[in-house]
Amino acid sequence: MLGLMQDQPLLISSVLEHALSAHPWSEISSRTVEGPMHHCTYADIGRRAKQLANAMTSLDVQPGDRIGTLAWNGYRHMELYFGVSGMGAILHTINPRLFPEQIEFIANHAEDQYLFFDLSFAALVEQLAPRMKSVKAFIALTDRSRMPAIEVPNLLCYEDLIDGQSSEYAWPVLDERAASSMCYTSGTTGNPKGVLFSHRSTILHSLALCTSDGFGLSSADSALLVVPMFHVNAWGMPYAGAMCGAKLVLPGPALDGESIYELMRTEEVTLALGVPTVWMMLQQHVEARGLDPAKELRLNRVVIGGAAAPRALVETFETRFDTRVLHVWGMTEMSPLGTVCTRLPKHRTARLDELLDLQAKQGRALFGVSMKVIDADGSELPHDGKASGHLLVKGPWIVSQYFRGEGGRILDDAGWFDTGDIATIDPDGYMQITDRAKDVIKSGGEWISSIDLENAAIGHPAVAEAAVIGIPHAKWQERPLLVVVLKSGKAASKEELLGFLETRVAKWWLPDDVAYVDELPHTATGKLQKMKLREQFRDYRLAEG
Ligand code: ADP
Repeated sequence: MLGLMQDQPLLISSVLEHALSAHPWSEISSRTVEGPMHHCTYADIGRRAKQLANAMTSLDVQPGDRIGTLAWNGYRHMELYFGVSGMGAILHTINPRLFPEQIEFIANHAEDQYLFFDLSFAALVEQLAPRMKSVKAFIALTDRSRMPAIEVPNLLCYEDLIDGQSSEYAWPVLDERAASSMCYTSGTTGNPKGVLFSHRSTILHSLALCTSDGFGLSSADSALLVVPMFHVNAWGMPYAGAMCGAKLVLPGPALDGESIYELMRTEEVTLALGVPTVWMMLQQHVEARGLDPAKELRLNRVVIGGAAAPRALVETFETRFDTRVLHVWGMTEMSPLGTVCTRLPKHRTARLDELLDLQAKQGRALFGVSMKVIDADGSELPHDGKASGHLLVKGPWIVSQYFRGEGGRILDDAGWFDTGDIATIDPDGYMQITDRAKDVIKSGGEWISSIDLENAAIGHPAVAEAAVIGIPHAKWQERPLLVVVLKSGKAASKEELLGFLETRVAKWWLPDDVAYVDELPHTATGKLQKMKLREQFRDYRLAEG
């Protein structure tokens, strides 16, 4: 027997309509590419998203068409999020930090029909336009007076495009399983692969973000999205924000410590989201200027994900900023959110050092995400916090296959997706990432976690950034090499660093050597690029004793 409840598809347009009726005055504050702030409301976004939908209808955009963007976090990008998906087309956010050849590959693979771009990327668009075969027109996200002087056929102006269009638009009633947006993984191995999100997966994921054990997002929040809108939909925040009417603060291209701190202060930010490197820059700014964030800011939660949050970073936020850290884990293939590290009632009386240990973990699964760890034979491992194995996930906002079937079958017979991460799960359900399967250091048949070593090294006051890679070793197969970037004006010898680590990790984990570099290679999404680093140190030999 079927239930007798209304059968309404879960659509992105309905999130916008809800914001328009329940939170029309909630603000979207954006730092523009030109520099000044721009302030508008959900009512403005809704009105202009409808004008955009009408404009795209006049451009003959069809349901299912891919519409590319090369844009920072800003209000016009927000209009594209709702206008494009709402009308049934697919918003394809492209990461502008990728190599031009990768961008060309992605736009051609997705067969983007139109490409919207911020002025910062005008030269890039000029370079790539002749090779983007499917793109019918390139639309600069600006007004007539600031149009770039570039040689691009079919160059349009965004403000001209939507100007004069009606702000009345009846959103089509789509199948909730229809594709709404897409994002390519950074393709650390092989070509990037497209992950195609649906209206349904997006809505369910957004609901999870709004729960208290998610980000606890509400209309009382002013949320700063340092995580880019071109990377997994800014972790779903534009949709979740509209769903609960949170004020959104969009930083544009200015992601340095000073700009971020100023935005936090002037926009009274309560929640901020980003990867560890961004937060390290912020903390260095605070340290260098002797600022007092606990007094000057209203920041009460900071979401850290995309890479492991070092303990020292968590400690500074908790103590100096008086801000609760929500350590999260996920991946593009998971929309991206899988786990959030929140506390349980049993932690109420825990000491600070115990809480910091807890928050070094990536957290517990949200409703909607099932997780398990398995060994090399596929047997499930116990949730004892010790046994580490391949982390598998399953759920309604997790990928079932890549766009155009690239990579073939990616789920096992029971529907589990292998994340490529190695992890433990403890008896309370807290998952901790040990490593990416391809980065783990195999020493004498045991595994050494490069992440644990890196996080410990970051705790040293002279270390700005650290990476650990495996170096071939005749006896042990591989041994760890610590590669560090020192803070400017600071020094730390190999002996000092190893002595510091000695009290923090098992003795047989201690790196065999320390190398000093000026900078570490990062991926387009700000992660350490271990493959490149391994290449850099390919000829490096350890003194084998
Ligand atoms: P990519 O395009 O490189 O796949 P993702 O953002 O999808 O970019 O990367 C997902 C991966 O990032 C995860 O599989 C995991 O290895 C790593 N990751 C994400 N969050 C964390 C975290 N909190 N701690 C450790 N690793 C993380």
